[in-house]
Amino acid sequence: MNVLYDSDVDVDLIRARRVAILGYGVQGRAQALNLSDSGVDVVIGLREGSSSIERVREDELKYAPLAEAVGDAAVVLLLIPDEEQPSVYHEVIARMLEPGGLLVFAHGFNLHYRTIVPRGDLDVVMVAPMGIGQEVRETYNRGGGVPGLLAVQQDCTGNARQLALSLAAALGHGRAGIMETTIADETETDLFAEQVVLCGGITHLVTSAFETLVDAGYPEELAYFCCLHELKLMAGMMQRNGIAGTRESISTTAEYGDYTRGPRVINDTSKAAMRQILTEIKDGTFASELADEIASGQPQIEAGRKQAREHPIERVGQQLRRMMPWLARTS
Ligand code: NDP
Ligand code: MG
Repeated sequence: MNVLYDSDVDVDLIRARRVAILGYGVQGRAQALNLSDSGVDVVIGLREGSSSIERVREDELKYAPLAEAVGDAAVVLLLIPDEEQPSVYHEVIARMLEPGGLLVFAHGFNLHYRTIVPRGDLDVVMVAPMGIGQEVRETYNRGGGVPGLLAVQQDCTGNARQLALSLAAALGHGRAGIMETTIADETETDLFAEQVVLCGGITHLVTSAFETLVDAGYPEELAYFCCLHELKLMAGMMQRNGIAGTRESISTTAEYGDYTRGPRVINDTSKAAMRQILTEIKDGTFASELADEIASGQPQIEAGRKQAREHPIERVGQQLRRMMPWLARTS
């Protein structure tokens, strides 16, 4: 994989252009502040009645209605939820972005599954941060950056890649590494990781372990702390030291249990399920299922939320977290 750093990139290219950021949520705010601190001319595009206007004012950034922000910009970052992007693309960007303008996505979903097919006279790229908004901002503030993925979907000016690299560097990604990839690879690996590890995998693993302990008569508080609360320690260690390093830092008892018991839970059966999940991502089954779910008012998502709120791990978790106010809730 081609990895580039600040020294490979001309950050002045992006400084010479007006950049509109649509949305001031998790990524919008973090990226806007990083770009502004990197000397880029940024304007935030907000919908009518936006709940974010006060925050933008407090952060002392310029803002404008969506159409005006896009009309005056050479570069547009689409940082609203993926499911909202197609309508904003059609209603605002397709009508207002000048020919040769650069449209930037932070995730490839809509491009890959063709729920957005951008106008042929635009440059279209993806600059995807490998971290949540809070990390994007905090690491930049500390002089670092989160790694970023870059892909060029459409290059009609011949400058799309250079300008995207410049943008990625201004966001801070060039400090940690800008990895060149494709929209397909980013989208498919991102969905796969969130389904089998980061979201679907971990929540079900934790919940099943909690239920097993509670069903066997152990106190809920104990089950909560050992199966959920302590995860952060392990995740942090894995990020810093890798898996081999983590295993060498835990106790001999924990390490032996890891090698001999782990594969009894996660094994060839789980791997076969993972392969099937990947097939459904690649052939579009998951994306069309998700579109149907959203079109029908998100019944499975609502049911899942209700079930999660009513689960004993949530009841006991709420009580225990109240006693640890320093664990401020983040979105
Ligand atoms: P958010 O849910 O935080 O976006 C919220 C913002 O979008 C708000 O400012 C909201 O407006 C605005 N918004 C919502 N709907 C509309 C609409 N119809 N018209 C105009 N503005 C709208 O999004 P994220 O930051 O989570 O995600 C943005 C992109 O970044 C996505 O493509 C996502 O996949 C990608 N991404 C996100 C990551 C993350 O950390 N969350 C990580 C990596 C990539 P209002 O101000 O009125 O509330
Ligand atoms: Mg994701």
